[in-house]
Amino acid sequence: MLFKSSKINEFRLWGLLLTMLGMGLMVLGTAGIVFWGQSGKIIAAIGLVIGLISMMGSLGIYFWAGMLSTTAVQLECPECHKLTKMLGKTDRCMFCKTILTLDPEKANITADELEKQQAISGAESK
Ligand SMILES: [Zn+2]
Repeated sequence: MLFKSSKINEFRLWGLLLTMLGMGLMVLGTAGIVFWGQSGKIIAAIGLVIGLISMMGSLGIYFWAGMLSTTAVQLECPECHKLTKMLGKTDRCMFCKTILTLDPEKANITADELEKQQAISGAESK
């Protein structure tokens, strides 16, 4: 995970970033026609195509996040006592970013140790 946030929040963030990027490219592409006239049309076409692709991508991410959140486990965070959702065996609280786990073997180690373990298992799966 790139950011220290819960997985559902991170999916939402990436979906939002891609939508913004796609819309920005489409607006810039259309503005290209206004500024550069005939030659701007090529830039506009490229901008529109890339913008459309990234918006389709963000739609896919939103859809995926929606599917994942139906399988998410809802629980009360032991730190801030708010209702949060977690994906998989380990995830962070959506509110206070505390690492939560359903795996009893990982429940007694610190956050640093967990990240080291994740780095090792990530390297093995490649
Ligand atoms: Zn919390």
